[in-house]
Parts: sequence; structure tokens; C-alpha cells
Amino acid sequence: MTNSHSVFQPDTQDDLVKFVTENATNSRCRLLPVGGATACTKMIGGDLTEVRLEHLNRVIDFPARDMTITVEAGIRIADLNRILASENQRLPIDIPQPEQATLGGVIATNWSGARRFGCGTMRDYVIGISAIDASGQRFSAGGRVVKNVAGYDLCKLLVGSRGTLAIISQVTLKLRPMLETSALVALTFDSLSQVDAVLNRLLTSATRPMVLDVLSRMGTLARPNEKTGKSAHPQILIVGFEGALWETNWQIETLLAECQPFEPRAAESFLGAAADSWWETLRDFSIHSNSYVTFQASLPPSRMCDFLRLTTDAGIAVQAHAGNGIAIGHLPERVVTADQSVAAIEPLADLVRSCGGHLSVLRAPSGWPSLDVAADSWAGSLAWTQRLKRQLDPHDLLNPIC
Ligand SMILES: Cc1cc2nc3c(=O)[nH]c(=O)nc-3n(C[C@H](O)[C@H](O)[C@H](O)COP(=O)(O)OP(=O)(O)OC[C@H]3O[C@@H](n4cnc5c(N)ncnc54)[C@H](O)[C@@H]3O)c2cc1C
Repeated sequence: MTNSHSVFQPDTQDDLVKFVTENATNSRCRLLPVGGATACTKMIGGDLTEVRLEHLNRVIDFPARDMTITVEAGIRIADLNRILASENQRLPIDIPQPEQATLGGVIATNWSGARRFGCGTMRDYVIGISAIDASGQRFSAGGRVVKNVAGYDLCKLLVGSRGTLAIISQVTLKLRPMLETSALVALTFDSLSQVDAVLNRLLTSATRPMVLDVLSRMGTLARPNEKTGKSAHPQILIVGFEGALWETNWQIETLLAECQPFEPRAAESFLGAAADSWWETLRDFSIHSNSYVTFQASLPPSRMCDFLRLTTDAGIAVQAHAGNGIAIGHLPERVVTADQSVAAIEPLADLVRSCGGHLSVLRAPSGWPSLDVAADSWAGSLAWTQRLKRQLDPHDLLNPIC
């Protein structure tokens, strides 16, 4: 017996409610919400309908003076950014492929980038949400929509739910103002011990960084010093600032003075448009690789340099949001089989397990066994999530929990 695969593309939220209600009572097909399809989604077999949300892209309300906006969830991030910029406002989350990714997809994956350190995640910006559960019932929570009910905080619950609990149809966001300027300082070090020491120093820095990223084993960015013969794979610490011009300039100078005793091999600062290509590198690191496997690990920030020692030894290129304990890594291109990937990840897995973290694969060839790793302490929250899923989606019609 073959499995059927169909597509439904609603033009309005009412069409979506009608379709999901009919599905729940009649065909009971599994529904896969799809935004820009930039993330690969793990599904299990059976009949499947893709619910493509890209036509649900209207602006419902933009009271700019309140610094909030209510939009449908299928709006592309680049379109949203353009609308916000027209009022000198922004959503300060760095999202790869913004012309393709949708707001609903970003919320469902709770994706966050380099600015997470200073600006937080989608959970901090979603103040109201409307969604349709697997039975076709529309519900709203938070913000401008309905009173905050006792019980589950549905706004927070749906952020990062990956389409397992409901289809997000409309969202109210709180916004931030555009800032006068932004700057990045790139400090190159020969060893991770130096990076570790600088990160500790920055805990008491007089500056207020928005970004604290380490780029490790970045092939094209690694600039070996041929004269001194120093490491061909230096560690690059990127510190980002945003604000008024005078404020940003003061932060750059202060940071450089604070870091000078740690003897960086190079220290360069990029202000305004001169920093654009670095911002893009930070935003798009997760998608720029020929590697077979890209992963994301989460661990205590205090263990990040230990993690980077392992990845450096294994030849894995990493972008670490060091202040948040999140690392995105590309396995080396020579790793081409599932067995080789397991072997490459195993040393990282031991560290991740031992410090209560987890590692999940963002991209791998389809059909490969799961390479995800989690500390034992995650078993409790997984059981809780599965109980919640049974309550909200008893017939298992939405994405499975993987
Ligand atoms: C596991 C994973 C893999 C990733 N891989 C990549 C990658 O290869 N390239 C890249 O550029 N970025 C990747 N990202 C980042 C991702 O692109 C961003 O999170 C992006 O914003 C997703 O937006 P999208 O519209 O493309 O979502 P999609 O890729 O369409 O969907 C992502 C997930 O969200 C669910 N979803 C989408 N819309 C809704 C909705 N309205 N309601 C409920 N659920 C919804 C989908 O079912 C799916 O589980 C990945 C993120 C994760 C968590």
C-alpha cells in the first residue's frame, strides 16, 4: 500500500479552520504545517497533507506608536522586516534565508541567532498568538487578543513546538526601535585558553555586548600568519554592539582596552555598513556548508570552551553563541556515512550528556538514523511533552514529537 501526499494552501484563516475540522472528522490525515520549508522536518509514514501557510501573510494591525504588530503567521521574515523598517522598528532576531522563512516557522522552531545574547529569543517577542488545534478549534492567548487564562501559558508553549501541538495562524509581536548604528569587533586568538580567559573577563566588562560569538575552524576566515607560523585555525571572538554612534564607539574602545592584556593576534572593528558582511556571516553560518551533517548543541556556557576544544580537534567548524551556551557545527566534509557521523559526534555526545545538555541534528541525509543526543535529565521533560501532546492532539494528527 502506498502513502498519499497532498497539499492544502489556505487563503484565509477561516479556510484553514474549515479544512482542519473536516480532516479531524473525516479523513484523519496527518497534517504537516509548512512555512518557508527552510528547516527539514522529520515525519513518520502514513497519509500526509502539507498545510502551506504562505498565503496567510496579511498585516492585521500595526499600531506603530504602541510598538506592536499583529500579522498572519505565513508572512515572510524579509517582508515583515521591510514593513517594520518603514516605521523605524525591528524584530531583533537573526534568521537565515529571510526571503523564504516565515514568522510561523521561526516561532515553531524558536530559532535564534547571534543577537540572542543581548536581545533574547522569539519567546520574548510573542505577546499574542492564535492557532488551530488538531480538531479544528481556533484558540488565542496573550497580548491584544484574549485574557491570559489560568493553566498552560499557550503563548510560551507554542514557541518551539515545531508544529506538534497546533497550527499557528496569527501572531502579535512586541517590537524594538531601530538603533543608530551597530558594530562588530573581531578578536583573533591562537588558543582557546585565551578565548576562555577573555570570556571570563567580559563577565565584568564595562560594555554591554549584544553578540558574543566564537567562530572556530572557519576555513575561509582562518588567516594563518605565515611569518610567525602560528595556528592555521585561530579562534575568532566576535563581540557586537548596537546603539547611538558615540555609545558604540565608546564600547569598542573600552572592549579593545579590556582585551588587550590577553594578547589577541589581531583586533579589528567594523562600524555600520563596514560590518554588514560579518553580520551576514553570523546570520547564515548554519546554511553555508557542503557538510553532510549540521548540528546544534546546547550546554552550560561555562563548558563551551571545553566543547570547542573537542570540535577543533575533530576539524568541525563551529559558530558558538558563547554567552548562551549554543553551538552550531558542521561535521567535516570527509564525514560521508552515518557510521562516520556517529563516530564524529560521540566525543561531543559524552561531554553534552555529562553536563546536562543536548545535541540535535539540523540537517542530515534523509534515511539516516537519528544522531540526536540528550542528557538523562531530558527524559522527564520529554515524557511531560508527550503527555501534553496527547491532551492537545489525541488522534496524533499533527507533527510527531521526535
Ligand atoms: C531542526 C531544524 C533544522 C533547520 N534547518 C535549517 C536549514 O537547513 N536551513 C535554514 O536556513 N534554516 C534551518 N533552520 C532554521 C529555520 O530555517 C528557521 O527556524 C526558520 O525560521 C524556519 O522558518 P520556515 O518558515 O522555513 O519553517 P519551515 O521550515 O517551513 O518549518 C519549520 C518547522 O516549523 C513548523 N511550522 C512552520 N510553520 C508553522 C506554523 N505556522 N504553525 C505551526 N508549525 C509551523 C513546521 O512543521 C516545521 O516543523 C532549522 C531549524 C531547525 C529547528
